[in-house]
Amino acid sequence: MVLTPPAIIYDATVNVAMPIQSYQNFLQTASRILLDANSAHRHSAVIIINLEGLPDLDGILGYTEVDEILGKLIQQTHDALNAADIAGPSGRHQICCLLSDLLTTNHAILAAHKIMRVFTQTHRFNHRRVSLLPRIGVALNTSQKDDLRTLMSNASTALHHAKRSRESIRLYDENEKDSLLSSMDIWSELDRAIDTGELQLVYQPQLWIDTGKIRSAEALLRWNHPSRGFIPPDKLIHAAEGTELMTKLTLWVFNTALRQCQEYRKTGLDTGVSINLSAGDLNDAELVELIEQAVNIWNIPPGEIMIELTETAIMEDQSNSLETLHALKNIGFRLAMDDFGTGYSSMERLLLLPLDEIKIDKTFVTDMLSRPAHERIVSSMISIGHQLNLDIIAEGVENLTTYRHLRTLRCDAVQGFFVGNGMAMPELIKFGLRLKADEDAVFR
Ligand code: C2E
Ligand code: MG
Ligand code: MG
Repeated sequence: MVLTPPAIIYDATVNVAMPIQSYQNFLQTASRILLDANSAHRHSAVIIINLEGLPDLDGILGYTEVDEILGKLIQQTHDALNAADIAGPSGRHQICCLLSDLLTTNHAILAAHKIMRVFTQTHRFNHRRVSLLPRIGVALNTSQKDDLRTLMSNASTALHHAKRSRESIRLYDENEKDSLLSSMDIWSELDRAIDTGELQLVYQPQLWIDTGKIRSAEALLRWNHPSRGFIPPDKLIHAAEGTELMTKLTLWVFNTALRQCQEYRKTGLDTGVSINLSAGDLNDAELVELIEQAVNIWNIPPGEIMIELTETAIMEDQSNSLETLHALKNIGFRLAMDDFGTGYSSMERLLLLPLDEIKIDKTFVTDMLSRPAHERIVSSMISIGHQLNLDIIAEGVENLTTYRHLRTLRCDAVQGFFVGNGMAMPELIKFGLRLKADEDAVFR
């Protein structure tokens, strides 16, 4: 890749700042320094810094100004490092550093933290204030044999994991390479699968426990891959998270679920649909607007749409998630905290969230009759939820005895294999009509 405007690269071996025209130039200088470090058995490491705010600035300030900013940031990175270290561009919005004389490998992590401190300050460029979101991947040359390309590839893998798990700094872990490769494979095919109609939604009914009537149906993703077979939804969500594909996937889910919900409602069934959002969706600034557009297209009252977010997703990034939750609530959606009990909600925070419903995780519900501790947890969650004026739904209800016991505990609604597994929309319509005609006495 050729970088047009000059960024600065510092060759510490000659202690002279040289303008660099290309990424190639960085590779050449860094390879030479690394060779020397390896033959002298010195510890070294590569650090890659990705700057999430910079691509947006391309459109606002133009390429020339952004390249100038990148050049200044490289200089600041260099200033934060030791004299023997070099920094240069490794992409339009990325900076790469080679640390070639580390006393111990821990020093690479210390250096990464130092760089992070530089980047998390608000920067001033040409009288403008610029805030950037840096993420850092670090790869250590523990064997003192690795070449530059291996170290850069390892640092990129670490960076990819940092983005996905929304950590600021991530150290390369050899064991993660395989899982990343397989999720990359899925990732590359998922884009095609969305466009070619290979993905489907099934709907799992949720019932009101006092009347046995259908309350909502949860849309669950299904991907039957032509050669790999069934790919579990959590695995494919994991592959898409942190990438642009996640927005595309979520919008596909929304549009499909709303279109099919419209079919369902045309038959005279008046319930809505529950849709899962992922942790990454909560940080996607444009998503709320796109979702609102989808709702307007399909003309489903937003109050009939329940958005499910896992407890961990809601708690993960507190500032952004709260803002997004309020934006969704303002449109009129109802909000559910999914998998409740598996995260770590504080009661104080529960009070702050604009929730309508809590879904008790199936790990407590499925075996609650054989495990008294789980039964006590379920019972407490129901009373806490009611104290907070929330509806409580139990997931993972697999038999009639559990269903009936939840009724005595005053749980509001249930979902699980006992009521029905995920089904295609035509089946759900039949199921809904049967319940409406009061044909399934077992649920009453
Ligand atoms: P979830 O939202 O908690 O969905 C409930 C999961 O529990 C589903 O697994 C469902 O098939 C399973 N389940 C339902 N009843 C029972 C039961 O009685 N016993 C047991 N043992 N399991 C039951 P599934 O379909 O594999 O989905 C797993 C997770 O993947 C979902 O958990 C949700 O977090 C995620 N997911 C699924 N579809 C989507 C989607 O469209 N978008 C997003 N972001 N996440 C999705
Ligand atoms: Mg769910
Ligand atoms: Mg759940």
